[in-house]
Amino acid sequence: MVPPHQSNTIDFDAAKLRRLGFSSAQQPGPLRALSLADLRRQLTLQLQTSLEADRILTLFFQEVRRLVPLDTLAYRNAGSDLRLEFGVSASHSASYRLSHEGEYLGEVVFRRGRRFDDQELGQLESLMACLLFPLRNALLYRAALRSALRDPLTDTGNRIAMDQALQREADRARRTLEPLSVLMLDIDHFKSINDRFGHGVGDEVLKAIATTLKADLRNIDLVFRYGGEEFLVLLSGTGQEAAAMIGERLRQAVEALQHLVEGQAIHLSISLGCATLAPGETVESLLRRADNALYNAKREGRNRLAFAG
Ligand code: GH3
Ligand code: MG
Ligand code: MG
Repeated sequence: MVPPHQSNTIDFDAAKLRRLGFSSAQQPGPLRALSLADLRRQLTLQLQTSLEADRILTLFFQEVRRLVPLDTLAYRNAGSDLRLEFGVSASHSASYRLSHEGEYLGEVVFRRGRRFDDQELGQLESLMACLLFPLRNALLYRAALRSALRDPLTDTGNRIAMDQALQREADRARRTLEPLSVLMLDIDHFKSINDRFGHGVGDEVLKAIATTLKADLRNIDLVFRYGGEEFLVLLSGTGQEAAAMIGERLRQAVEALQHLVEGQAIHLSISLGCATLAPGETVESLLRRADNALYNAKREGRNRLAFAG
């Protein structure tokens, strides 16, 4: 039998946190003289309260400034495509590359109008030690979130990412009155590639075509694999004419691909359906129209782009 009230929930409200000596992000409490050891203790507790790199670094910046005056905190992590900056820029800087047991955790730059002295640098280094584990957890969390939204074979956005992005961009298009177009594309005669050369080669072709699309579009977050050999390209701020030009460029890029199987180039092509969001139209209707256009492109002979009616 499961006993009632077994969940362990402790709710710290803002007032309680302030009583415990944590300042809140919105309303910093009165500043008081603080020892390095005090601050390290507080930081260690406080940085554990979030898995968001942005929040962790905001808290870190806010708290560290209580001991060492700073104008800027910049953080960059090349591996996870993360770049954050807090405060205003200044001329003197101190940079650190963070790593833990050989694991790269990014670079931190502190800036301000006057030089840092040795004591301050020592304090900053000591405080950065409190950043390591929370930051590592945040990076792992970020990577997990990211992989939940990506298709592992082609490294494009998956269906979940596509639905989220479409909704977000359609809302933005309605708000800003900017155009929004989609290209729905499907590899031509893909089944026969699988049948002739095997599923492994089919997978390689899928990867090669996805790589071509991403390279041509530059922003890889715009490409989603929503079906077996079907992709969607989301084009914000793009009307029908520009979308058709982009689609035509993609079609030509795939056609020009020299994909070798057993030393021989196999002919590849895609068909595309292009649709532009109409005023008041839902995302579902936009996708339906793009799908109909794709169907027409197939019916008209493949390796071409058709517009939605
Ligand atoms: P069409 O020109 O009309 O699009 O013809 P098609 O052969 O591309 O279309 P069809 O829908 O008949 O076949 C799609 C094939 O894609 C069937 C399926 O086995 C294959 N497929 C789907 N997902 C994958 C995958 O992840 N890897 C591989 N290798 N094949 C896949
Ligand atoms: Mg298909
Ligand atoms: Mg197909």
